Parts: sequence; structure tokens; C-alpha cells
Amino acid sequence: MNEKIWLSSPHMGGQELEYVKEAFQSNWIAPLGPNVDGFENDLAKYTGSPFAAALSAGTAALHLALILLDVKSGDEVLCQSMTFSASANPIAYQGATPVFVDSEKDTWNIDPVLLEEAIKDRIAKGKKPKAIIPVHLYGMPAKMAEILAVAAKYEIPVVEDAAEALGSLYQGKACGTLGELGILSFNGNKIITTSGGGALIGSNGDQIKKARFLATQARDNAPHYEHTHIGFNYRMSNICAGIGRGQMQVLDDRVEKRRRNFDYYVKELAGVPGISFLQEPEGSVSNRWLSTILVNPKESGGVSRETIRLALEKENIESRPLWKPMHMQPVFSGAPAYVNGVSEKLFEDGLCLPSGSNLTIQQLESIVANIKKLWD
Ligand SMILES: *Cc1c(COP(=O)(O)O)cnc(C)c1O
Repeated sequence: MNEKIWLSSPHMGGQELEYVKEAFQSNWIAPLGPNVDGFENDLAKYTGSPFAAALSAGTAALHLALILLDVKSGDEVLCQSMTFSASANPIAYQGATPVFVDSEKDTWNIDPVLLEEAIKDRIAKGKKPKAIIPVHLYGMPAKMAEILAVAAKYEIPVVEDAAEALGSLYQGKACGTLGELGILSFNGNKIITTSGGGALIGSNGDQIKKARFLATQARDNAPHYEHTHIGFNYRMSNICAGIGRGQMQVLDDRVEKRRRNFDYYVKELAGVPGISFLQEPEGSVSNRWLSTILVNPKESGGVSRETIRLALEKENIESRPLWKPMHMQPVFSGAPAYVNGVSEKLFEDGLCLPSGSNLTIQQLESIVANIKKLWD
């Protein structure tokens, strides 16, 4: 059997262990510590966001963002349907209802036109949504100008789910810094990893300070343990943050490598009948966290994304269908949804190809050869 080719595996840079060693030598094993401060500074500097809080997961960051925006039981929150479940789960943690909105075809992210229709309809039904969660899927920036315009018109705050988009730019600005709050993820499969972790970023220092407070069990300022808020254990540890500091040193290289993967796939596969790629709209730079293709069986002579996935699996090559939209998920079957058919079609025809920044050229060649074979 060939050595397994993963969809997206961790890729250490080299300096991570130095930071972790430092933490061991100074016995900063406990949560918080100099690496956490350093990592937060690195993130703020890189994204241009004035403030960042390092947390245990992107999901935790999103949960805290919703709490900061006062999302409570019985509220509604608008959420991109085409995404990973972690974008929507924190809405349910708050006892609120997710209202799903379908995608547009240019970026595969939340459709601003449908978003406005959804807002009008929710207001007509008696409830104004408390927040909007657009996602920059696979690193491709959403149509933020249009989304922010709709959000401003109805005065609804935007929380950007930039978990997949660290290193992506929208009109020169980092994804995650355009809305009121943004979240990042450093899970094992993301563009950089702390083995597990996330961050909340924003330009309001009081909000980020409050997030740090809530994330450390909401301990009030007193010699004993005094609490006026429900707290969470959501902080990042000083060990994980050490890994993060090392990863930040190689982030630009990781973006370059992921974009190289995408360019290679385009070069080799764009001429194959039925295969198409999502291009960057003017003004957007995607980190190409995952390289994706659409496969149209009517044009490919019958080859579907599933034919390709199974053929690659036989060669020990991992690929995966695009995210299954949240409005199609059994767990959210009761949630309101505004759909236009785009995300359902993407799920049917879309495939994520191996995209790690550590893929070798030989591995890329083998992936492409195994795909092209299906057209022989
Ligand atoms: C990975 C991911 C998250 C969650 O991040 P974790 O750090 O794994 O909790 C949220 N949203 C999207 C779109 C993701 O891909």
C-alpha cells in the first residue's frame, strides 16, 4: 500500500519546540503565560486586528462572540448554511435558533441578497435576528462589502467565521477583521495548528477583555473566588500557544504552499471535461486552505465526485465531499432556512482534494494521475 496522503495534516515549522521547551524550563505549564501573550500579539500583528484572545478552540471563540453580542435563549442568529457544524453549534449552546441562509455561486459563501430577504422575513415574523455569521469557506473570502451593507442597514452585528481563512485577504484586509468580531481556528487540519485552539479577534478592547474574563471561569477581582457571571474554561494553554508562536513564523510559507497546490491542480485538471474550479473574485486572496473541484457528470462522461473519491481512497489518498449544508443536516432539520439550491448542488458535485502544505510534488503528481485515469 502507498503511504497515506492526507487531506490536510499538521505541518510543523521547526521553532515550535523551542517555545514549548521554554515553557517547560520556566515551568509555565499552567494555562496562560508568556507564550499566550506572545501568540496573541503575533495574531494581532499578522491580521491587523487590534485585539486577540487565544482560546481552546474556534468553537469556543464563536460561543464567546455570541455571548458578547447578548445572544440568549429564544433569539435567532443568521448563519451560512454551507459550512462545518461548528459554525452553528454555538447558537444552539445559547438556546438560540440558527436561521440558515444559502450561498451565492461566486465564493460559495452566504448570499447577501438572500440574507436580506431572510432578515426581512424574520422581522415580519416578529423577531429581528441578533447576529449574522458569514463563513470564508475553504479560505475564500465571502462578499463582505455586500454583507456588511445589509448588516448595517438592519443594525445587526456580524461575526466572521474565519476558521478556515487565516492568511486570506478581502480588499487588502485580513478575513476576520471586517465584522464586529472574528474567529480563527488552529485545529489540527487548519492552515496552522496549535494541536487544538482558536482565537477571538476584534477592534473593541473591552469586548476582547471580557472574552478573556469569561474564558477563565469568570473570576471577579477578589482574593477569594467571587463570581457574578457564568464562566467557561476556554483559554489556550501556554504549551499550545508555544506551538502557535512557532507556526506563525511559517504562516506565509504555508499560504504560499497551499496556493501552489491549487495552481498545480488547475494546471493539470482544468482541461479535463467536467472539472471546474472556483476562481478568486477581484480583490480577494484565498489562502486556499483546501483545494476543491466541482465535477459535472453530464460533461465528464459519467465520472462524478464520488467516482473520484472512491478511486483515490483505493490508492490510500484521502479526499472528501464539500461540507454538507446545515439545512440538510438531521440535527438542524427544525431550523428555518432560506435556500436557493446553490449549496445543495455544491454538496452533490464538490470534492476537496489533498491540500496539505507538506505535500510533495510526487504526491501531487500521483493524485492528479489517479484522477486523470478515470477519463481514459
Ligand atoms: C474548524 C472550523 C471551526 C471550528 O474550529 P475548532 O477550532 O475546531 O473548534 C469553525 N468553523 C469552521 C468553518 C471550521 O472549519
